[in-house]
Amino acid sequence: MANETQPIDPDGDPYWAGAAEGELRYRKCGACEASIFYPRAICPACGAPDPAWAVSKGAGSIYACTTVHRAPPAFADNAPYTVLLVDLDEGFRMMGGLAGDANVAVGDRVTVTFREGPDGRPAPYFTPA
Ligand SMILES: [Zn+2]
Repeated sequence: MANETQPIDPDGDPYWAGAAEGELRYRKCGACEASIFYPRAICPACGAPDPAWAVSKGAGSIYACTTVHRAPPAFADNAPYTVLLVDLDEGFRMMGGLAGDANVAVGDRVTVTFREGPDGRPAPYFTPA
């Protein structure tokens, strides 16, 4: 199971291409200005089709954090690890891992980086800013 690679969602391909280059891409609606993440083909705020792609500076504040001690099998070798929900400065929220073992709290500033995830794809991690 861990070695299977599922097809990537076409709506998200530019995101993955950006991640491979260390760039955090999201979508920005030209009709209502909503910042959209995860990437979708239709704006969830107003329904406009095909929102444009944009590049985040990757900086934000921690909205929530939790440390996982009893991990599912695919992640067991990494436990304990910390998962964050981060509010990016461009106005969207996303999940990512904490890079390293720094103590973090809600409200702390962080910046995104990409590391190889458990499925071999680049995965977003955050480091304290
Ligand atoms: Zn919209």
